[in-house]
Amino acid sequence: MSAMPRLDWDALTDEAVELLSTYLRIDTTNPPGHETRATQWLGELLAAEGVPFRTYARHPDRASLVATLPGDGSRGRPLVLLSHTDVVPAEPAHWREEPLSGAVHDGYVWGRGAIDMKGMGVMQLMTLLLHRRLGLPLRRDLTLIAVADEEAGGTEGIEFLAEAHPELLACDFVINEGGMGAHETFGVRRPVFNVGVAEKGPLWLRLLTTGTPGHGSVPHGDNALERLVRALERVQRWERPFEQTPEVALYFERLHKNGVLTEAPSAGSLRVLAAQHPRVLSLLTNSVSLTSMTAGMKHNVIPAQAEATLDVRLVPGYDPARFIDQLRAVIDDPLVRIETVFEASTPISPVGTELYRAIERAVHDVMEDAAVAPSVSTGFTDSRAFRRLGVPAYGFIPVLLEPDANAGMHGNDERLAIDQLRLGMQILFATVREVCG
Ligand SMILES: [Zn+2]
Repeated sequence: MSAMPRLDWDALTDEAVELLSTYLRIDTTNPPGHETRATQWLGELLAAEGVPFRTYARHPDRASLVATLPGDGSRGRPLVLLSHTDVVPAEPAHWREEPLSGAVHDGYVWGRGAIDMKGMGVMQLMTLLLHRRLGLPLRRDLTLIAVADEEAGGTEGIEFLAEAHPELLACDFVINEGGMGAHETFGVRRPVFNVGVAEKGPLWLRLLTTGTPGHGSVPHGDNALERLVRALERVQRWERPFEQTPEVALYFERLHKNGVLTEAPSAGSLRVLAAQHPRVLSLLTNSVSLTSMTAGMKHNVIPAQAEATLDVRLVPGYDPARFIDQLRAVIDDPLVRIETVFEASTPISPVGTELYRAIERAVHDVMEDAAVAPSVSTGFTDSRAFRRLGVPAYGFIPVLLEPDANAGMHGNDERLAIDQLRLGMQILFATVREVCG
């Protein structure tokens, strides 16, 4: 690694706050997205500093942007800094600030997307601009990819790029969302930076039943809705075993090693933890949420069909077909049909790569007492498009959140502390120097 240049982090933080505030005011609420508004803004900033970029879009209103600072290639293929420009809708009535205000006060930048993930987008942009301004040597390309449509499945964003421009995904490593730091983990105060190495696999299922229609005054025992309710009751009573994957085991081991978990992780201690923390239970099991149910049209008519949707999340590496077989056995009714609506299991990104070690070093350089733990995300991200190709993609937004700030992601009062924006920039910059310098 080359020596770290001296930088004026106060001035850079001011600049980043200004950028984030502006970015949050650009309405990219998805649906409908309008992400081209964001790529235009990013494009103007890049053009002003002489960074080459291109935009890609299936629909003109939903562009994604790719900018590359070329390296000499002596360390391999590019490092990709990946972010999405869209945000989920917000309900202003429940916010202290206007969700699209980009307000700056009390040490925070407020707005929908501050954490998920325009804040990270700004850290990535600043990292790229710093390399350009300082003319820092790069031994591999440094590529910024800002995609549309992550929040609605990525059809117009990462999936479009993967399909129409697969060459853009040819790289050695990706840094994306899917892992964040926390001041406190399981009630223990200690800075821990989570590096997302795997994600639970979404398996969205629809259960369908049919029966004989009739008048509500004459029950006949072949009611589609009653059949569905019986099936759902069995699903809810189903006690699924703990499925401890090696990645989840490693996460808890690292937390133990760093003093966050006092007890060495065992089946018993994890069971206790899972009873207190729904997220832990989700990490250790194939989870099932009943999310909708549709049947009937009139108070006195027995419906001929009924359907329900299940949001199933499989532990990393679990075979969806195996789960569906188990579900079928639990429901134990051949008249209940199970349909797969969406399935996206992805391989795990190994720890111990050059990038993973660079992240560990960068974190320790900037914050000596912080721990780094490989984590598994219960949600899924655009990293899947890269993991599918065997490219290690890590979820690493290098900021430390307070426990209540976590609720801001997709919730109310989303905001990013200015000191965390600064910390995140420092760690990301140091990581990129480690991997590209
Ligand atoms: Zn996100």
